[in-house]
Amino acid sequence: MVNMMGKTSKLFHRLENIEDVEEFYEAIDRKHLSQSLSPERPYTYWTIELYDKSNGIRGGGGLGVLAADTRRVAERQQVPFTLITPFYPSEPHQTYSNFENGAYHEEVSYAKYGFKFVDTVNIRASGQICTLDVIEKQLGSTRILCITEPNFGELYSGESGGDHRLYQEVSLGFGGYQALKLIGLKPAIMQLNEVATFFAALARLDELTSNGMDVYEAIVYTRKHTLYTNHTLVQAAEADFSYEQFERFVFPNLRSKAVKKWLSDKFDNGRIRLSTVTIEIAELRSGVSKLHARVANYHDLAGNKVKFKAITNGIDIPTWTLPEIVTYLKKMDILDKFDLPSEKYLTNIEKIEANDIRELKNAGRAELNRVLSHRVDQYGKHPVIEGDALVFDFKRRFVDYKRPWLPMTNPIRLAELLEKHNIHYFLAGRVHEGDHRMAEKLRNLLETVDRNPILRERVHYLPDYDEELGRALSVGSNVSINTPIVGLEACGTSWMKDIINLGILVSTHDGGVADCSSDAYLCISGRNEHEEVESLYRRIDEAANAWKNDFDLETIIQTELKNYVPVISGSRMLRDYLDYLF
Ligand SMILES: *Cc1c(COP(=O)(O)O)cnc(C)c1O
Repeated sequence: MVNMMGKTSKLFHRLENIEDVEEFYEAIDRKHLSQSLSPERPYTYWTIELYDKSNGIRGGGGLGVLAADTRRVAERQQVPFTLITPFYPSEPHQTYSNFENGAYHEEVSYAKYGFKFVDTVNIRASGQICTLDVIEKQLGSTRILCITEPNFGELYSGESGGDHRLYQEVSLGFGGYQALKLIGLKPAIMQLNEVATFFAALARLDELTSNGMDVYEAIVYTRKHTLYTNHTLVQAAEADFSYEQFERFVFPNLRSKAVKKWLSDKFDNGRIRLSTVTIEIAELRSGVSKLHARVANYHDLAGNKVKFKAITNGIDIPTWTLPEIVTYLKKMDILDKFDLPSEKYLTNIEKIEANDIRELKNAGRAELNRVLSHRVDQYGKHPVIEGDALVFDFKRRFVDYKRPWLPMTNPIRLAELLEKHNIHYFLAGRVHEGDHRMAEKLRNLLETVDRNPILRERVHYLPDYDEELGRALSVGSNVSINTPIVGLEACGTSWMKDIINLGILVSTHDGGVADCSSDAYLCISGRNEHEEVESLYRRIDEAANAWKNDFDLETIIQTELKNYVPVISGSRMLRDYLDYLF
């Protein structure tokens, strides 16, 4: 991401020497960590999705962004950390023209992104030996270790529950575990970023057992050192696999008969959900916000409700924040050198003045305009935002529960607000290729925009939403809108990017936003969707007015920061994980 920011400064380098890592451990009150973690015994993080295009890998959404940020924070704080993920040789892009959602696919070469070929490993699938390339890239105290092959396919290609997905997941688990051995690493801990990575823990269990450990002892050992991080609310929503699929893709990779028996016993009517077995193999379990950890509804095989430890996601602040704003937050002693809240952050936030906010936002606006100069809207044009206009945005995957159409419920009302306050409203979010239902919803939405001359001029849909757009809109927007149906967002991190860049957040009380009280930002409330829409329009008006009133602007921005700086800090998240794990 350093490329994307266009400039680097000392501030954004990782801590310089080994004393610093000790100091970080001390700052987070974990002095003994140097004994638990070492370059040969790193924290290992398993993920089917990584969103880190500066390292060649494009993800799909929040799950991948979280993985990338966790690694970046570990690098900055010099924590020994290895992230294991597939390198997808092809990546999808979204196009939009003439009210049609489209796609093109780009080949990606890992050598271009500085990965080095290590060796190959083999896995078995459908009666064949599949050879996977192991590639790696070292980044400070961290590395990205990938398995790949020319026909590996794209992220989330095929049906969930389908053969190709199972092949990808088995490759990551069994292939990735062999890759780790190949480069001489032993995992101090295995963090499973969602259940698609289950097979990594299974590979470990199989290794221990086939090396002579009793299977139950091996399960106890694996459980103690495995953390399952859940991002999904409902167990029933997860796709399952058949016994027959496991016979082709999974069992041939197991050496231990006892492990095979253990796994076979977990099938229910010939089907299995990976969450069921992940719960059995991971004693440590976390959810990604306080609300999510509380409401995630999972049961183990004995029928007991699973408890998740709440570790709210954070972001790597320097990646997502305008450099001028990071400098300002450090100069004001709001963030310390670890990007943790300083001791006096609460009183120091009160010293933030409207003038500072406006000046920093002007710099953010310039950055947004720079990015917009090479991106297009739904009409194929580069939108340009003139001097005193306000920018509002809605940027997130185009999926039902996030309700991207909510602000468009009453087009006339929205048009009035946009015109009254001279607002340009940016909408960004990809529709998954082949999702005809969402493509249709997007088309309807943009046709509504097209029919209204005010909306046509002021509502800009930016296709192919990616990190560049996510960051540019966060730094350049005055107000961001977040409308998940309450109870359905696990955490979300876009809103964190908005708050740390001194924007006003208008949101429903959900996900990580609900870690703090509903007075901490401009909350959309209501007993039904109709009331929520009314509340949303009032909040849009209120947010726009606040940008014209120094006192209101200071109050809102200060309140957001006082509440959310500790939540947003990725270093705080890493500290919470280390606390929980060691
Ligand atoms: C930050 C970011 C996300 C995270 O989205 P949420 O909807 O907040 O979970 C997804 N995609 C991109 C490109 C991002 O930059």
